[in-house]
Amino acid sequence: MSKVVIIGGGVVGASVARHLAVRGGCDVTLIEQSPSPGAGSTGRATGGARVQFGTEINVRMSKYSIDFIREWDRDCGYDPKGYLFFATSEAGFDSLKRNVEVQRRVGIESTRTVSREEIAEICPLIVTDDIIGGTFGSEDSFINPIALMRSFHDEAAEHGVRFMFGTEVSSIGRVGGRVSGVITADGEIGCDAVVICTGARAARLGSGVGIDIPVRPQRRQIVWARCGEKIPDSLPMVIDVGSGFHFRPARDFIDPSAVTENGDLLLAWPDPNDLTASDDFDAGFIPPVLEQSRRRLKIHASLDVVPTKCRAGLYENTPDHHGIIGPAGPDGLFLACGFSGHGVMHSPATGRAISEMILDGRCGFMDVSALGFDRFENGRLLEESSFI
Ligand SMILES: Cc1cc2nc3c(=O)[nH]c(=O)nc-3n(C[C@H](O)[C@H](O)[C@H](O)COP(=O)(O)OP(=O)(O)OC[C@H]3O[C@@H](n4cnc5c(N)ncnc54)[C@H](O)[C@@H]3O)c2cc1C
Repeated sequence: MSKVVIIGGGVVGASVARHLAVRGGCDVTLIEQSPSPGAGSTGRATGGARVQFGTEINVRMSKYSIDFIREWDRDCGYDPKGYLFFATSEAGFDSLKRNVEVQRRVGIESTRTVSREEIAEICPLIVTDDIIGGTFGSEDSFINPIALMRSFHDEAAEHGVRFMFGTEVSSIGRVGGRVSGVITADGEIGCDAVVICTGARAARLGSGVGIDIPVRPQRRQIVWARCGEKIPDSLPMVIDVGSGFHFRPARDFIDPSAVTENGDLLLAWPDPNDLTASDDFDAGFIPPVLEQSRRRLKIHASLDVVPTKCRAGLYENTPDHHGIIGPAGPDGLFLACGFSGHGVMHSPATGRAISEMILDGRCGFMDVSALGFDRFENGRLLEESSFI
């Protein structure tokens, strides 16, 4: 029986482990450097899943994954409140309309363009004077990233996956043109296939096997604010496609009772000047985010920031803001990383894709070749207009 080692126990590594184990036919070990799962980006994610993307492959990855989460018999917090994108420029609105065309091409009917008046109805909290139009996707959802990751871990364990927490992989062994195992402080663990699922730190393990994995960490921060006025139960994720400022009703994925009766908000904004590769929250981020909220949110004056609940995490960016899925470098090495802020929502499709590549020699359920590592070598980069 062939042996597979998965490096990284976040939502992506857990999904790969679960999909391999449920299929059966190989011996799977998952190695995670932290003492428990969720210490990486997965534990910091906002918890959104959307089909509203601008490339066919991202739409397909989302569609498959959202369907998986909805239909799975484990509760992963699936809550289809939708995503509302709005634009304050003609160019921004045109870009959103092009994305709807892309989604239609792959069979998505649940996203529609919306007028300023409809936007005001969907989200009465925002100032709409300068808004030209937008799109609303009713299939887009909130999910619980930690519940999803734990569910993958649990099902993987039930199907015999071995977990090694608190163990760092320092390098990948190779003999000739094949991987031979992974090296830890306790020695080498031999195997036939290795899957790198180390999120924002994926580049580190590539250099030892002669490949430049183009994944770079970039900090993203979230401000948690209590609302003095009740927010609507139907509030979706709301995104200004021009500035990237976005907000959603807050959920505490560990302690649901931590949200107050009026509802709390998560406020976020991709600060273009923040190139930090640390996942420490910087309180200096609060004033610029509140400035965005002051301009957009009618209830801004009632917001009360809760500093202890603000958080930061790392995006794992590739040059074209698409994940990398598939073989790379020596035979037996696979990458599942670089999701550029979409790794939670794309984890079900990723786990299935990698499991089919390892067990069947090819991914049969979906053509994921556009996400191959070879695109960086042959210059066939993708272009995602909806990277937030
Ligand atoms: C603020 C923020 C909001 C986000 N919002 C969303 C969202 O709404 N929807 C969405 O889909 N995505 C979102 N993301 C992105 C999402 O969090 C990531 O894409 C996803 O968590 C990646 O999962 P992963 O398993 O690849 O990485 P991680 O969760 O980072 O897991 C990688 C694991 O590898 C381990 N590791 C690293 N190196 C080694 C080693 N050498 N040996 C052993 N273990 C190692 C780490 O300890 C870590 O646990 C958000 C990210 C941030 C920061």
